[in-house]
Amino acid sequence: MKNRKVHVVLIVATLVVVGIAVSAASRTGRSQAQLSNHTQRSKTERTVKMTDRPRPSETSNSSAEFTSAASQNASLRNDVTWTFGGKQQRGWSLYDLLIGKTLNIEHDPVTSDFAASLSKWQKKNGLGSTGVLDQDSLMAMISQWQRNRLKVRTAATPDQLVLAPASDFYDPSRAAEMRQVEKKTYEAYKEMVAAAHADPTLNLSANDKHLKIISAFRSREYQDELRRQSPNAGSAGLAVNSPHFTGRALDIYVGGSPVDTNDSNRAIQVNTPAYRWLVRNAERFGFRPYFYEPWHWEYVK
Ligand SMILES: [Zn+2]
Repeated sequence: MKNRKVHVVLIVATLVVVGIAVSAASRTGRSQAQLSNHTQRSKTERTVKMTDRPRPSETSNSSAEFTSAASQNASLRNDVTWTFGGKQQRGWSLYDLLIGKTLNIEHDPVTSDFAASLSKWQKKNGLGSTGVLDQDSLMAMISQWQRNRLKVRTAATPDQLVLAPASDFYDPSRAAEMRQVEKKTYEAYKEMVAAAHADPTLNLSANDKHLKIISAFRSREYQDELRRQSPNAGSAGLAVNSPHFTGRALDIYVGGSPVDTNDSNRAIQVNTPAYRWLVRNAERFGFRPYFYEPWHWEYVK
């Protein structure tokens, strides 16, 4: 009797264990199938569920574990909403190149390799290392870019400025008083443009408009006047504290409509060879970008 009871208990226990194992296996199988199916779908429809977010990785950064992050990035790249300069913004595709430069990679932003690199940057910056470029991580990256900008906040004095020749300008008929540039900034600009013209991959013609100066030194008074003319531009349009009065900020022609912040225009600009060259090379000449305006560069040395 006792033995039989034990037997029955053992058989029941075995059945329960087998049952759990089978059910777990089928669940895993299903979720893997769902995940891969899901990943497939995301690639085409660019829709993802936020619940697929992977847990922060502490030990391994293998690409495989960032598959889900990559598909979320494919969606967020076009759809994440955020605010800048009092204006609602959508997606981060306009900043692909700057993001790649920040992460020191050239991966396509919707790949697992990109997500893996992003997760390292996130970890270094005290963020959850998910590999997902969501609103929080995007705002943190933008803060980093903004911190890297020109610190000088004093207006250029006349002795710090040089008059650049009309031929350096996008509009060669620009008046002389509008063609002043801080001395070191101008030297660095000329070196940078010479390097760009010498770079066969860029293939600039001698009189190419690309990389010509659109605008350089602007007095505070002139800057105020510009703002009065477009009062609705907001701080994302014409910066209230625009550093053009330092003589160290240059608006450089990178294609498209020269200084138009519409997303459609900026989408053209960030894909021109001239802009791409600047993102890769401007830093070694001392120039850093203002992420929101592809044409605006500041001499930070
Ligand atoms: Zn500017």
